[in-house]
Formats: sequence, C-alpha cells, structure tokens
Amino acid sequence: MNKSNTRRLQIILILCIALLALSIGLVSVGKQYKERVNQQASTESLLYLEESLLSFIANLTQIGYQSNLANAQYQEFAGAVANFPNLAGITNIWLINSQGTYLDINTANPHHGYLATYDDTDFASEPINISNTPLWASYFFGANDKAYDVFVKPETALSLTLAIPFISDEERRILAVDLDLSKWVTFAKPNQQLSIRFNEQLIWTNAGEPIATSIERSILNNPELVLRSAVEVDYWLYLLPIPLIALLVIVVYGIQKPITPSYNTRKLGHDTVEALDLLIVETDQQGVINWMSRGAFASLKTFNINEGDLLRKHLTNHPRIVSYIHSSLQGEKLTYQLDESGYSFRIKQQPRRDSNEQIIGLSFIIEDITAQIELENSLKHQQLHDKLTSLPNRQLFEQQLNHDIHRAKRRDTPVAILAIEINGLGDINKTFGHQMGDNALQHIAAALRQEIREEDMLSRFSSDEFLVICDDYQDPIELRAIANRVINRTTTEFTINHQSLTLSANIGIATYPRDSKDAGSLISNAIAAMRHARQSGRNTLDYFSTENAEIVQRKWQLEQSLTNATKAQSFELHYQPIFDINTSRCKGAEALIRWPASTLTPDQFIPMAEQSGLMHSIGSWVLETSLHQLQVWQNTHPNFQYISVNVSVAQLNESNFIETVNSIVQKYPFKAGSVVLELTESIMMSTNNDMMKKLNALTKMGFKIAIDDFGMGYSSLSYLKYLPIDMIKIDKSFLDGVPKVSSNVLICEAIIQMSRALNLRIVAEGIETPEQLTWLAEKGVSTAQGFFFAKALPADQFATFLPKTES
Ligand code: C2E
Ligand code: MG
Ligand code: MG
Repeated sequence: MNKSNTRRLQIILILCIALLALSIGLVSVGKQYKERVNQQASTESLLYLEESLLSFIANLTQIGYQSNLANAQYQEFAGAVANFPNLAGITNIWLINSQGTYLDINTANPHHGYLATYDDTDFASEPINISNTPLWASYFFGANDKAYDVFVKPETALSLTLAIPFISDEERRILAVDLDLSKWVTFAKPNQQLSIRFNEQLIWTNAGEPIATSIERSILNNPELVLRSAVEVDYWLYLLPIPLIALLVIVVYGIQKPITPSYNTRKLGHDTVEALDLLIVETDQQGVINWMSRGAFASLKTFNINEGDLLRKHLTNHPRIVSYIHSSLQGEKLTYQLDESGYSFRIKQQPRRDSNEQIIGLSFIIEDITAQIELENSLKHQQLHDKLTSLPNRQLFEQQLNHDIHRAKRRDTPVAILAIEINGLGDINKTFGHQMGDNALQHIAAALRQEIREEDMLSRFSSDEFLVICDDYQDPIELRAIANRVINRTTTEFTINHQSLTLSANIGIATYPRDSKDAGSLISNAIAAMRHARQSGRNTLDYFSTENAEIVQRKWQLEQSLTNATKAQSFELHYQPIFDINTSRCKGAEALIRWPASTLTPDQFIPMAEQSGLMHSIGSWVLETSLHQLQVWQNTHPNFQYISVNVSVAQLNESNFIETVNSIVQKYPFKAGSVVLELTESIMMSTNNDMMKKLNALTKMGFKIAIDDFGMGYSSLSYLKYLPIDMIKIDKSFLDGVPKVSSNVLICEAIIQMSRALNLRIVAEGIETPEQLTWLAEKGVSTAQGFFFAKALPADQFATFLPKTES
C-alpha cells in the first residue's frame, strides 16, 4: 500500500475513535441525566405517597380516638367510618378486637354501595379468628407498639393495608384499612413507571415492568415495602449518535473512495468525459484496467476502453506499444505518441509501485494532442511550402532530395533532377501587372504538376525556376519525355482575365550518381544545364556536362562581379575625341565605359549587364557622369561642342527610362544639341509607338540621336526617315581598308549618299590611317574618330585635346 493510502486509513481510524468516544460520552452524560431525573421523580413520588399516607393515618388516628374505637360498638364504629377521609381510596375497613376471635369487620366503602351495616358478631356463623396469623399476632400479642404499620396481608395480596392500633385501659383494637392503590398513587409523571413491591412481590404498578433502571425506596421505613420508579426520558440520547455516525460514514466514504478500486464499467464518451482532455488509466500487472479517471474526451471514444478491460486487447494493432508496456513493467518511464483514427495522443506511461517499491501495475496519462499536431503540421507546411503555388519550397526539396539520394545509394538506383526555367513571366508582370504574373505562375505550377509523375516532387525553387526530382527512373528516355511534356505544356497558350498568354521553358537535367554524388551539387548542376540550355534559345533542353557547367559557372561568377561593381560604382568613363577633319580640331568626345578591375572590354561585359538587368543603373551612371563632365569642359572650353553617350536598347526598354533621364538632366542641364545619344541599329527592329514616344521625348529634352555602328544591323535604310534621328556613325568594319578595299568603299559611298538624302550628319568611326581620312575628306565627310587621332582617354588626359579658346 502506498503512503497516501496509509495516511488515509490513519485519518479514518482516528475519526472512528473520536466519534466512538463522543458517542460514549454523550450516552453516559445522558444516563447520568436520566438517573438524576429518575432520582428526583422517585423522591418526589415517595414523599408525596408518604405524605398522603401519613396525613391519612393522622386523620384516622384522630377520628379513631375521638370515636373511642378501642371500645366502640358497631354503631359508633360506623359513625366514625363515615368521617374517614378519602373513602373512595379504601376497599375494606375492619376493626379487630383483642381476642382475635372476635372481631369487628366492616365492609365500609360507601362508593361501592355497601356502607358498613352489620356486625360480624351478629352472625351465627363461626367468626373468623385471625389472631393466629403471624401478621396480626405481632400486633396483638407481640411487642409491636408502633403507632401504625403498613403491610400486605397474605390472604389479600396485592393490596396495601394500613394498621393503626387504638388502645384503652381494657381493650386494644386494630383498625385495618385496605387501600385501593390506584386511587392513591395518582402522582406519576407522564414518563414515570411506578410499582410497589412487598417482599419483592409486585403488588401494584401503573405500567407493567419498568423498562429501564429503576430507583427503589422503602415506604414509611418498612424495608419490605418498596416503591420503584423509572423515568423514560432518554430516547433522544440514543438518537444523538446517529447523525454523527452518518457523518462518519460520509467522511469515510469520501476518503476511501479514491483508493478503493472501482470496477464501474462506464464507457468513455459521456458528456462530462468529453469536456476534459486528459485520461488517466491505471492497470494491474497483467494490464487489466482497474481504475480510470472519469474524464476523457470525444476522441478517446477511439479507444473504447472500460475499467476491467485488458489493455493489451485494445492494442493488438500496436505491437510497438505492447513492447513499451513490457518495458514499463520492467520499470521504464516512457512518453510517446499514438496516432489512431485521425487523432493523435501523447501517452506518458510509468510503473506503479507499492510501498515496498514493487511494481504492481502501470499508470497512463493520455492527452489528446490532435489540435496541437494539426497546428504543427500546418506551420510545418507553411514553412516548407511556397505561399503562392503551395508547392514544396527549396528547403523541403533539399530534404527530400537528400533522402532520395540516400535511398538510391542503398538500392544502387539513379536519381535525376530537372531544373525548369519559365521565360516570359517578367514580360507578363511588366505588361499586365504583378497580380497577373502571380496568376500565370499559379497556372503554370498546376500545369507542371500534371505533367510530371505523381511520385516525383515538384518544387518552386526561385521566382521562375522549378525543380523536379525524378526518383528511380528506368531509362534516361523517360526524363526526356517528361522534359518534352513540360515544354509542350508551358508553351501551350492559356487565358487569364481574357488575356491569352504564352510562356516558354528551358530545362536542364543532372543525374545522380553520374553528375554528382550529393544533393547540393546535383541541384547546381541541373541549374547550370538549364542556363546552358537558355543560351541555345527558348524551349530547349540540355544535359549537364562539366564543360557546360564551367561556362555557366564562369558566366555566373562574372555576373556576380559585375553586380558588385555596379553597386560599388567601380567603373570609369574614358573619352575618345571626335575631330573635325577640315580644321583638325577636336569638337566633341564619345564617353566609353571602362572596368579597371577587369580584363573584359565593354563589348564583352555590356551584353552581360543587359542580360542580368544591370544596364539601367550602369547607363544612368554613365549619363550622369558624362553630363557632369560636359558641364566642366564647356565652362572652361566654350568651343567644345558635344559629348556622345552610348545608350543600350535594354535601357530604352525600361519603363521609367525617360523619368530617369529627366531627373539627371534636371541635375546637369545642358545646351540643346550638345549631347548625342548613340543607339544601336537594333532600335529600328523594335520600333513601336512606345519607342517613338521615347525618342521624341528625348529630342524634346535637347538630345540629338545617333545610330551607332550603322550598317551592322541590316535594317532598312528607308526606315530611318520615320525616326527622329540626327546622325549616323559608320561602323569601323566598313571603313577598314578604305580606300583600297573596293567593296567597303562602295558600301561607305552608299551610306554617305543615303545620309545626305535623309539630311543626316555622318561620323566615321575607327579611323586609323591618314588614307582613310583623306578619302573621307574627299567624300565630304567632316567628322571622324579613331585611333588615328586618339584612343579613349581618362578625363584628365583628354584635356590636351580640348579645343583652345580663340583669343
Ligand atoms: P562604339 O560605341 O561603337 O564605340 C567605339 C568602339 O570602337 C570603342 O570600343 C572604341 O575604343 C573603339 N575604337 C574607336 N576607334 C578605334 C580604332 O581606330 N580602332 C579600333 N580597333 N577600335 C576603335 P570600346 O570602348 O571597347 O567599346 C565597345 C562598344 O561598347 C561600344 O562601341 C559601345 O557599343 C559599347 N560601349 C562602350 N561604352 C559604353 C557605354 O558607356 N554605354 C553603352 N551602352 N555602350 C557602351
Ligand atoms: Mg558608340
Ligand atoms: Mg560604334
């Protein structure tokens, strides 16, 4: 038995003893009380009886002597009797003379209708001589000289007789009076039982045998004559312990209840049970439930367990838990989770021990943690899934891939990753807004999910990149089939908000164990293959190869350092002078970007900056720096005419290009016509309304527009007349070898003629020889730049070319 049970039993024992003592105390107090009442009542009764008898005797004695009963004749005796008090309480009156053989006997009870009327001596019959009876003899012949006596005549038992002697000189007579006791003993209290006994023989009682302890007192000092009294006053005393005992029973029951094994087989699922969320179960060593808390909850209906059940019976589907039970019976404490019928429970289980530390069973605390688990799962889901598409995110994808690679290692099977890049989402964002872009992304995510095998994981890896794990495929052809399905599906036109949209995809594939042995590099290899595919155009597929990966890797690194350079503004501007051929004077300069930290030329890094979206900020910096430089030079050298700034088509395509340029112009205003913006010929390939507006806006701001590298873009010359263009720059390649290379001479002549026809100024680029210069001068071209004059130079070195101020 454990400590708390022993303590409870001690309390119960103490309470029992205390209540017993209290009951005994109450009863004994009650008895004393009863004794006292009895004593008092007996004393009162006796005094009353004796008083009335004594006063009766006194009366009789007085009347008897007045009537000279010692010598009276019958008539005088009858006269005396008529004066006796309380005749109703008398049954017989005799006057016995001293001879004993003669006696006067009178039946003298007027209430019985026979007042004494005759003298027995008148009868001829043998007179009754009572002198021989011991009772009377003592009065007549003995030494009894008492003034009166009380006794019971043997012949008339059960009646009390008073005897009073009357003595004269010659006679000694006894007056004997039989008393009707029921008339005399009229003083009993309601609960008082009275009896009169003579020599232990009952001669009178008011209510049978006394039922309780009686008090006895001898009447008129006669030890043989006794009055007994008992008073019934104590019923309530015996009742007094009853409420106390009831209280004891309740208290004992209350304390005892929890330690008494209850085998109530009430089922779980009761209303109150459902309100609680803990179930406590205790079993014996065999696993039989011998107690369980009354509380449980709705989901515990699942167990449908009852007291008295064998717990293991319910766990046949859970061999793991049966083994836990076994461990706990060996003394182990365990906490574990049980999932059953869509509910989750946390079970804490430990052995129960008796006071000797012996294991006597198990106790379980079972807690419904379904809601908690659901919350955890939803948080976990949120944490591991992309909000927009609900697809697994990068973290979950990597977890799964690690797991799959592990398994593939064991089974010696392959794992492949498809990296999918969706192209065109950026355009949708720009054209229709981000909400539309999001909707398109959701659409494409759902579409891709349909195209890949159910067992494969599709994850959104970054904004427009998706990754797929193809686990345990049989044949690489399967991968190609999946990739083709993905491309087909992506390029299928779809409609959102009544807008028809199409996208394209590039896919890269890398496989374990061929391309990589770990998850991280397998993913980057697939992405490298995807980027390499991108270089081959849209809707292409590529497999990972080390060479490709290196190219992609290098490119990626370059992009990174370009990004850093843009942020750190670590570019420089050099200026190549532009000369007036006729005067040999420098009239302007072309600003050309330089990246001192890199060996890359602008031809190499500008396209990369365009691709990676860096061109807008680089271009802004170039324009701002150039305008600032122009201000400086024009202040010091008023004859310096203009600066030429290259603008990439990627910049022009930016929606806020005009605003950006405008804000720079506000900062560094310039004279109209003193800044030329050089656009490549490709501008004409994409001329639309929007582009025309932009070009017009630029000319309004005071810019002149030049077409750079003219002749390289194979564009229709006639197109030029529709654009607000001021000059063309003949590409260096056409001037190479002029005037010796006749084909170039012809092309250059054609360009010159056409420009004149369209009223466009001409600048010749890449002039390296005096022959070229002479030929141009002959053809009437007045402006040129090239290494013949100077290479592009830092601003301070360029200063030597600045036109001298004319004095
Ligand atoms: P571009 O605008 O046609 O610039 C002329 C290029 O020819 C410059 O090359 C210049 O150094 C080079 N060049 C000039 N004269 C001669 C010559 O006599 N012989 C030879 N062999 N080359 C000569 P650079 O600076 O390497 O620039 C290459 C291209 O990069 C530029 O062609 C332009 O398209 C682009 N670029 C340069 N800077 C910028 C810039 O700030 N913004 C933009 N958008 N593009 C730029
Ligand atoms: Mg240029
Ligand atoms: Mg050029």
